[in-house]
Amino acid sequence: MDFYSALYTKNHTTQKARGMSTQKPYKLLLLPGDGIGHEVMAEVKKLINWLESNSDLTFECQDDHIGGAAYDAYGHPFADQTLEKARKSDAIIMGAVGGPKWDDTPYDLRPEAGLLRLRKELGLFANLRPAIVFDALVDASSLKPDIVRGLDILIVRELTGGVYFGEPRGIEDLGDGKRRGFNTQTYTTDEITRIGAVAFDLARKRGNKVTSCEKANVMESGKLWREEITALHAKEFSDVTLEHMYADNCAMQLLRHPSQFDVIVTDNLFGDILSDEAAMLTGSLGMLPSASLGAPGVPGLYEPVHGSAPDIAGQGKANPLATLLSFSMALRYSLDEGEWADKIEQAAQSVLNSGTRTADIMAGGCTQITTSEMGDALIKELSNSLAKAA
Ligand code: NAD
Repeated sequence: MDFYSALYTKNHTTQKARGMSTQKPYKLLLLPGDGIGHEVMAEVKKLINWLESNSDLTFECQDDHIGGAAYDAYGHPFADQTLEKARKSDAIIMGAVGGPKWDDTPYDLRPEAGLLRLRKELGLFANLRPAIVFDALVDASSLKPDIVRGLDILIVRELTGGVYFGEPRGIEDLGDGKRRGFNTQTYTTDEITRIGAVAFDLARKRGNKVTSCEKANVMESGKLWREEITALHAKEFSDVTLEHMYADNCAMQLLRHPSQFDVIVTDNLFGDILSDEAAMLTGSLGMLPSASLGAPGVPGLYEPVHGSAPDIAGQGKANPLATLLSFSMALRYSLDEGEWADKIEQAAQSVLNSGTRTADIMAGGCTQITTSEMGDALIKELSNSLAKAA
């Protein structure tokens, strides 16, 4: 098995793959960050405690700071000592970073710079963003229920290359009182094939279809992207259905007929935009988990898509499901505990079906609950399903 095929099915060199007993504790680094990060992470901790009491899983958790909280504690939004803890963990679970308190902090010490450093130092090149429409929330989408019902798309975005990092970049003085801003879009064969392999591997475990998006019609980097994905597909993944689509058409198709997609793989820039668009098909930021993964053996980073929501921080209004579902992704992709991930996702579905909602997903006829009550409700559903199975 080559490097790329090893990724994902098997990444991440899991405890099980290393032949260890599941009794060996999984090492987790918990980084609540700022704002509602603390409230939603408290619910993850509750779930970890419940798993320790009700399954054969055990965890060794360490807490540390990231973002504004790390700047306050260590003078840097992601300190060296935290990076060392991250490298030694099996997975990293993060809340969110940022807030008005740090608005005037120098650019390279802002809370968001801490998150960028973490991703960069660990080489987390694959960003996975599921866009799933839960049945109970079908009316929360801005699209008609018939178009989004049952939607389950996975966007795989290249995270460490492309125009956000390409050189040369800058703003130059043209000498006549005018200026020129420039960035460089660049991708190599290796960068394209490693993200392509992640997408194909994941598609095999889902709907077995990959849609690769670029602008091969107007960009050389897009032409190369298409050629390399085609070659990789022919060489290693011909059992997976592959289609190519221009990124602008993909943006349109996501609104027109989103259920045609299974896995979408795309570059950093198009992925940034298309993943936000796909996310909005599902209705609420408070429901959206994500994973950022690197090479085999490197811990994955799992975090909600939302930010630190300073407007509701400390009020018990935050929806913890995005973070709880991010933890569930960690169980699936870094710890090879997919069965528990399935159970947690089913429990989330049941909680929503039962009509209890946090404010962000509140609907007529439902009962509004707090952040902590949502965590409790998820655990109650898990306990019920265990009792039924016994
Ligand atoms: P945000 O995602 O924090 O909030 C946007 C809106 O969604 C707010 O009205 C907020 O109350 C609501 N919201 C977000 N998460 C929610 C949840 N779990 N439950 C209920 N409602 C929720 O985005 P923003 O307001 O643009 O940014 C706030 C801060 O977060 C900024 O400092 C920004 O830089 C930072 N940010 C961080 C991340 C990250 O940590 N990955 C991502 C985006 C923004």
